[in-house]
Amino acid sequence: MTTPHLHPLLDNGIQAGTGISGGTLHCKCATDKVEVTLKGDVLHNHACGCSKCWKPEGAVFAVIAVTPVDNVSVTAHADKLHIVDESATIQRHACKACGVHLFGRIEKAHPFKGLDFVHVELSSDKGWQAPQFAAFVSSIIEQGYDPKGMDAVRARFKELGLESYDVLSPPLMDAICVLYLRTFEALRRTIKTRSTCSNRIAGGSGRPFPLGAGPVRETLW
Ligand SMILES: [Zn+2]
Ligand SMILES: [Zn+2]
Repeated sequence: MTTPHLHPLLDNGIQAGTGISGGTLHCKCATDKVEVTLKGDVLHNHACGCSKCWKPEGAVFAVIAVTPVDNVSVTAHADKLHIVDESATIQRHACKACGVHLFGRIEKAHPFKGLDFVHVELSSDKGWQAPQFAAFVSSIIEQGYDPKGMDAVRARFKELGLESYDVLSPPLMDAICVLYLRTFEALRRTIKTRSTCSNRIAGGSGRPFPLGAGPVRETLW
């Protein structure tokens, strides 16, 4: 089978990061580009196969990282930005003209609130943290990728030195579960005098628990 094309930042081998101290991201408009300035390097940069992250033309995966909200500022043509889906957990701010996502922000209670999601490929500055792992790999099937090609996709990530996961990496999933557990315990302390509380917790609206991997995965974004 031919080598799958994953993303331009992956297909020719991964460039190691150099500990960049910040830089600018630009949308793909020919003129009047939206500009976002980042302070410091990004964290947890990774390939993502989910259906919501912005991907460049022809890419099967997105490459996306996080950085603290305070490190992100829109420095030109903010008027061209709109939120792609107001109902989504991550409010993805995209250029209305070219469609590129400049940053994603979480406004509601969530383990990753306080971190913005950004694509370093939108920067001409070099040295950003390299992709560290591949997330939501199996999700590409839901977007039309041939399931027979999945072994080759995972083999390619392995060749590039990246582990493939079908949610996020173990440290991030652990962090999410710890935060959900704390929320769960705080709520349980609050309502422990109610006789039906455990039933309500297990069978109610279900957010932000129960703690099983399935619900956590489904409610992530
Ligand atoms: Zn644009
Ligand atoms: Zn994604």
